[in-house]
Amino acid sequence: MSPRNTAFLPQTAMNVDLSALSHNLRELRKKTPGSTRIMAVIKADAYGHGAVAVARAILDQGVSFLCVSRISEAVELRNAAIDAPILLFGNALPSQVPYMIQNNIRATVASLDFAQMISREAVKCGGTIKVHIKVDTGMGRLGILPSALSVKPLVNGQGPAEEEIASISRLQCLDLEGIYTHFANADSRDKTHTMGQIDLFSNLIERLEIRNICPPLRHSANSAAILELPGAHYNMVRAGIALYGLWPSDEVDHGMAQLKPVMSITSTIIHLKKVPRNFKISYGSTHVTPEETIIATVPIGYADGYNRLLSSRGQMIVKGIKVPVVGRVCMDFTMIDVGTVPNVQVGEKVTVLGHQGNVRVSADDIARLCNTINYEVVASLNRRIPIRYIHGKENR
Ligand SMILES: *Cc1c(COP(=O)(O)O)cnc(C)c1O
Repeated sequence: MSPRNTAFLPQTAMNVDLSALSHNLRELRKKTPGSTRIMAVIKADAYGHGAVAVARAILDQGVSFLCVSRISEAVELRNAAIDAPILLFGNALPSQVPYMIQNNIRATVASLDFAQMISREAVKCGGTIKVHIKVDTGMGRLGILPSALSVKPLVNGQGPAEEEIASISRLQCLDLEGIYTHFANADSRDKTHTMGQIDLFSNLIERLEIRNICPPLRHSANSAAILELPGAHYNMVRAGIALYGLWPSDEVDHGMAQLKPVMSITSTIIHLKKVPRNFKISYGSTHVTPEETIIATVPIGYADGYNRLLSSRGQMIVKGIKVPVVGRVCMDFTMIDVGTVPNVQVGEKVTVLGHQGNVRVSADDIARLCNTINYEVVASLNRRIPIRYIHGKENR
């Protein structure tokens, strides 16, 4: 049985609205010329939305390239017969190179050492591997450092960036298809650091052109830069969080696009009881009812990705009314106080993430309570929750 088999009607379900996904893609498309290619970032199971279905939906709509972080994520897409080009952000192992060649998966090359390794492997299996060079212009994560940021003496075959890239370009069985960088702060109001990153990247591209090294695809923009920094689009952009209808941060101007959240989570009241004043709820008895009330049990817990920090802090929606989570979130269950909701029954729908009419619990609301970002909220809601793919308003 697949973990997502919905034959057993789930009491808790993730609704993924593919119309909202298409809408967000159209909004992003408006931000960049038609000649700019859009890559869809579907790492981490498409930020929790289900990578295969998301890929199928957007590939029909003008997205021609997919990005993932782990080879296992690329394998899942290929096993589902998705044959669009895939760029792997993360590292590959030597033993994975033949698979990547056969399956049209592009490698990220962040050092000469790594490039030499995959070149050797490609030579061995008699194929050519397409690569995108990663430049670290100020993210401090993966990538070749531009000369302006390098400190001497250099380590591990590190050279001035142009030379390192020139050496890479001479390796056998590598096809230098792209070059890219990633921004650390594109979602901040203050774009100083990002402008510096753009300068370094553009400058390196120019210096490579002088040496006749011209990777055809150049990309740097994540969602925030797609929305606010047209100067960072080059000829390809990498759309992540905004595709899923969420803002990269509060500092990105929400007037730049109309985004619709794609994910919602609904559950069901599976147990209901009237309890007296001073009644203790859940592990640790951290919540004690201040008065007689009605407590409902909802089958979602931290094992589903409903964060335990939401204990006695989160809110859910029942019959259009926001009600509080009371006591600790358990592995499989969470309790809510529905004393304020008239005529609640077992079987009543509960909105854990999403809206009922105008009443909403957003990924940002949950993120705030957990001292994190909406990215982590959606990416954490996991495959234990079956996904129902919907179009439009049904079930929301
Ligand atoms: C995750 C990721 C993105 C997408 O970023 P968003 O802010 O979600 O748009 C783009 N590029 C790289 C390298 C990433 O790791």
